[in-house]
Amino acid sequence: MKDELNRQSLVANLKVVCLAGGVGGAKLADGLAHIVPPENLTIIVNTGDDFEHLGLTICPDLDTVMYTLAGVANTETGWGRAGESWRAVDEAARLGGPDWFRLGDLDLATHLVRTQMLRDGESLTAVTRHLTHHFNIQPALLPMSDQPAPTMIETDDGTLPFQTWFVKERWQPPVKQVVLPDDARATPAVMKALENADLVIIAPSNPFVSIEPILNVYPIRAMLMDLPQAVVAVTPIIGGQAVKGPAAKMMQERGLSVTAGAVAAYYGDLIDGFVYDQQDEGALDGLDAAGLCVDTWMRDQSDRIRLAQDALAFAAELGSR
Ligand code: GDP
Repeated sequence: MKDELNRQSLVANLKVVCLAGGVGGAKLADGLAHIVPPENLTIIVNTGDDFEHLGLTICPDLDTVMYTLAGVANTETGWGRAGESWRAVDEAARLGGPDWFRLGDLDLATHLVRTQMLRDGESLTAVTRHLTHHFNIQPALLPMSDQPAPTMIETDDGTLPFQTWFVKERWQPPVKQVVLPDDARATPAVMKALENADLVIIAPSNPFVSIEPILNVYPIRAMLMDLPQAVVAVTPIIGGQAVKGPAAKMMQERGLSVTAGAVAAYYGDLIDGFVYDQQDEGALDGLDAAGLCVDTWMRDQSDRIRLAQDALAFAAELGSR
């Protein structure tokens, strides 16, 4: 009991930044949102997956995090909203429009409002603040950049925009290289959050196409390296497999072993601590960073909260050393 109180008071006043992609990122961000006071939590989200479709600006990772924090996400698909209907996209397809990217009717409302506001000259940061306000989300949700910063995937059949590779090609073409823009700049809001951060948690998102695009935005990587306190990453690989999506396949294609240890090595000296799964107990001996071995599989909301608590307490302890 006393230990638990100590743990809670250790993290209560710390400013926490979480770097997140879509599904894995959203689940941990939701756990954090349940335990960190909202004024102390900022979630910086990958926008490398963003694209234009049917004339609309779609931000898949921002929306997955937003819908998850609002409790309206479709947890079965990992994208879009629960309780959707599909009349608009079905009709668009019948009229000869593209049918490979599904946008439900409720989801479409988000893209309509976002696209209109962007066309009126608002920044993506301001649009996201507006949308999260209307979803009653209190922590700050920030796009990594206000400029388009598209992730491109180089394959044997040419270089594909991210969503073409991920959704249309179902991430099957082997990845020769992930190509990231060299001119993406962080927003003032992102820089301020990182300047004030006590702890940074890198969510269990895909290291190559969710986290790397964020780190690639100048000067986010340098700011993390300079952070006086702790940067802690949570593994997206459990027992040699990805919970979901292409992370394991991409590791194989890069010639990496598909292990949590290889993810930790990939982050290298960027991280001070690495949270890995109990299934991999003993497999990360010799890790450069400090390690925490716990259950990292977030099956339900209590798992999300427990993992967020574990990761935060671990980071706080590392930061106070
Ligand atoms: P995406 O953009 O929707 O693919 O989402 P992310 O990049 O945020 O998340 C995908 C990664 O999250 C995958 O590599 C999964 O293995 C990982 N992931 C998803 N759910 C969990 C979970 O419950 N626990 C852990 N440790 N990793 C998870």
